Amino acid sequence: MYASPIPDRGSESPATALSVLNSVFGLTAFRGEQEKIVRHVADGGNCLVLMPTGGGKSLCYQLPSLLRKGCGIVVSPLIALMRDQVAGLIEAGVNAAVLNSTLSFEEASEVERRLLAGDLDLLYVAPERLLTPRCLNLIGQADIALFAVDEAHCVSQWGHDFRPEYIGLSVLSEKFPEVPRIALTATADELTRKEIAERLSLTDAPCFVASFDRPNIRYEIVDKQNSLNQLKTFIAERHAGEAGIVYCLSRAKVEDVASALSEAGIPALPYHAGLDASLRARHQDRFINEDGIVIVATIAFGMGIDKPDVRFVAHLDLPKSIEAYYQETGRAGRDGKPSSAWMAYGLSDIVQQRRMIDESSGSDAFKRVSIGKLDALVGLAETAHCRRRRLLGYFGEAVEAESCGNCDNCLTPPKMRDGKVIAQKLLSCAYRTGQRFGAMHLIDVLVGRMTEKVTQFGHDKLSVFGIGRELNEKQWRAALRQLVAMGHLRADGEAYGALKLTETSRGVLKGETEIWLREAAPSTRNRAIRAKSRRGELAPTPANGAAADPALHAALKAWRSEIARARGVPAYVVLHDSTIDGIAATRPATLGELRGIAGIGDKKLEHYGEELLALVRAGAAP
Ligand code: ADP
Ligand code: ZN
Repeated sequence: MYASPIPDRGSESPATALSVLNSVFGLTAFRGEQEKIVRHVADGGNCLVLMPTGGGKSLCYQLPSLLRKGCGIVVSPLIALMRDQVAGLIEAGVNAAVLNSTLSFEEASEVERRLLAGDLDLLYVAPERLLTPRCLNLIGQADIALFAVDEAHCVSQWGHDFRPEYIGLSVLSEKFPEVPRIALTATADELTRKEIAERLSLTDAPCFVASFDRPNIRYEIVDKQNSLNQLKTFIAERHAGEAGIVYCLSRAKVEDVASALSEAGIPALPYHAGLDASLRARHQDRFINEDGIVIVATIAFGMGIDKPDVRFVAHLDLPKSIEAYYQETGRAGRDGKPSSAWMAYGLSDIVQQRRMIDESSGSDAFKRVSIGKLDALVGLAETAHCRRRRLLGYFGEAVEAESCGNCDNCLTPPKMRDGKVIAQKLLSCAYRTGQRFGAMHLIDVLVGRMTEKVTQFGHDKLSVFGIGRELNEKQWRAALRQLVAMGHLRADGEAYGALKLTETSRGVLKGETEIWLREAAPSTRNRAIRAKSRRGELAPTPANGAAADPALHAALKAWRSEIARARGVPAYVVLHDSTIDGIAATRPATLGELRGIAGIGDKKLEHYGEELLALVRAGAAP
């Protein structure tokens, strides 16, 4: 028999997973593997859970903690995330608390007292805190429902988020073998999975693997022209007033882009390691707590940010691998609403990344692996087929459907043309000019432009001079990038982007290799996507849900901001965007109708029900 989810319901009939999902979280159905996992852990089983960001990992341990007797202990390395999760749980009426270094001695003592008194459903603890003799002793005396190890990949010494204090967590299975353990991560690779299982003694436990697809994210990769203008247009046309993250490679660029966006009237804040820690924290807080802030950041930003309503992630520079791209874009749309992953990329990005690898102090083996990862990402950027399929395929997940319907290539399939001759012209041009020049010069030679360099090296005397007038510069650039992505040309990082032939170039030059090139430049395809978006032909369209009733929607958001400010919690902790959308769309007239909207559980109904109904009524008045 299960314990009652919340103390004062003891007299009611025993709680089931579904009834608690509904009464506490205001949700009506489980997603994917959630139900199986919740049942398994509620029944006392151990397990490992692999689920993408936004997949719904939290419920997998929150619900069993409520269903089982005692308090669930959640280990998390991220203090900001703990704080926000606990705030959200308290809002939903759950007895939750944190134990970490931000608490005063008195506050910590009070939490300890509540744990021993059986007054807590969930306790979030930093790993180093948990491992203190004092804390372990305390846990030994309390009723513990389960241990949840969040961000479990932090035990992996090979991963990028290794945290030494996570190693000590093996003590949990030794000291408390009877308490179920659930480890969760969004890092999918085999090596990490094995390491987690070994370190946390989960080798015999089942591993639940969810699909890593994020269907609500629309993937788009555009040809980089003037990337700042492209970004401004993208935000203005598709995500005006919405929260987003823009990633750049350098601190200087972060500063430039943030101020350029601000000047254009888009509220943007910079975030990078060179900023003063307190300023950085302030910018992060504003991004989390306020509506519609764009943060411009180096990759240092994002880990441990739980903000569910990030509507877009934009890359102005190429990340270094598909793993990084997936992780960074995954910060968009955790709430499941339509979101965009948008990237502007050009040949210079490949050259820049190559140079960073070549100049790094890593071993040759490391450099080879890095180049392989970069090539895979360039392949994704240049593919003419479904990007989602390619992305998931990279992670070993097979997708049956040819087309996802929600990436740029599926929405407006690029036209392909036979590129044999074009490829031959390009490769011979690189060859004839000595494989010492970058894209700009090769294109000048191909289109027959008399530049200083052409004169200096006498390249106007070459047979390839002016043989490519059928394409313009932009088209040549696109062709060039595709040939690099196919591996028939190589951008040399050491020689400042000089384009060199590869082992496969010969077959192309001899006309033995089939070459198909995308015809339309991505920028024109984007215009097509935007036009379709405007005409409402695309589903799901990234939109802020305001369409249902813009005035009511705005009023609800303003109300939410006020409540959040007054209570000192992020806006999404009060109500998720999807809940606001639901209210604006269905205009509930009674508490019962309001309770039927996803995200409105018993406690939220009690706290905000009347106010929300009043807002709807006010909106309904003529
Ligand atoms: P993760 O920790 O895996 O990144 P979360 O647990 O934060 O993901 O959940 C992501 C979002 O999905 C949250 O906004 C959460 O409310 C929502 N969510 C999770 N499970 C469900 C469900 N069964 N039905 C509706 N929304 C859900
Ligand atoms: Zn697709």
